[in-house]
Amino acid sequence: MIKRRKTRTICVGKVKIGSKYPLVIQSMVKLATTDIAGCVKQINALSAAGAQLVRIAIPTRQDSIAFAKIVKKVKIPLIADIHFSPDRAIEAVEAGAVKIRLNPGNIKDKNDIYRIIDCAKAHKIAIRVGINEASIRNLLKDTQPAKRTNLMLKEMAGYIRLFEKRGFNNIVLSVKSSDVARTIESNIAVAERFPYPLHLGLTHAGLAEDAIVPASVALGTLLWRGIGDTIRISIAGDPVQEVKIAKKILTSIGLYKSREPELIVCPTCGRCQWDLIGFAQKVKKLLKEVKKPLRVAVMGCVVNGPGEAADADIAVCAAADKGFIYKKGKKIATVRQASLFVALEKEMKNL
Ligand code: SF4
Repeated sequence: MIKRRKTRTICVGKVKIGSKYPLVIQSMVKLATTDIAGCVKQINALSAAGAQLVRIAIPTRQDSIAFAKIVKKVKIPLIADIHFSPDRAIEAVEAGAVKIRLNPGNIKDKNDIYRIIDCAKAHKIAIRVGINEASIRNLLKDTQPAKRTNLMLKEMAGYIRLFEKRGFNNIVLSVKSSDVARTIESNIAVAERFPYPLHLGLTHAGLAEDAIVPASVALGTLLWRGIGDTIRISIAGDPVQEVKIAKKILTSIGLYKSREPELIVCPTCGRCQWDLIGFAQKVKKLLKEVKKPLRVAVMGCVVNGPGEAADADIAVCAAADKGFIYKKGKKIATVRQASLFVALEKEMKNL
């Protein structure tokens, strides 16, 4: 059982972030913000997939204008992603962002940071104070990798002091790197030192097939230690995939109760005497229609199949000629292997 690190609670519109509340899944719009219709469609798709917060980039004045229109067309709270420009931050807050993501390191003038803080305070919104290894590259360039975590921690401490001195503490922290080990190390260091909720992510993780493993290792390690209050999986691709992967990571360690069915398939070995992969693909298609939590197992043989599938709501295994169906580990039917799919489909309807 995971014991979450105790943090303050941060209000992000109607969403609460912190250890008293379930992990919040977020993602980011991948279209130009000026494509209002496209952004609204993507935001709604992310919300339907399970995202509770969606971030959107505001690089120009035109994007601020578009953002103000998008906010009015969607139900999910939006986070404005700001780099370099205090004016964009203020425009986004005034347009209805419930949180802004800010790397204070790339806003040169301290007074500009104060302007943003004061505006956020007046509108009662949150700020994610972020450090990204890439955005403080100049600072890190002569630093050995082993010492970078300390430097990032020092930077973060400076930013937090700045916000607290100005009387603002509705903040979420993030410290990001594309390096798995440094992501783990620096987030542990920040978690041990500051009481604010942490946004977890592995930056620039890659195409989906390359990003899933490092993101799962980095975030899984931290989450298992109770660190992390909101997550975003960064992949180069459809953002809905980011939400699905985030849900899978959280579900796998018991931090998210999936309302979707789960398919368990054995990896097969020399004992498997039937087309298990083809069968599993057909079952996966069938499960797309199921809108409730259900654990289905497809196992290759009777040697280990029934035992390994004992936790499933429904399971099948087969030999060359016969197929067997189990409910909660108990055998309920023996059918011809060729009829196994139809029989499984019927049993699933009865569940
Ligand atoms: S269930 Fe049977 S076929 Fe599948 S991996 Fe285990 S022993 Fe091999």
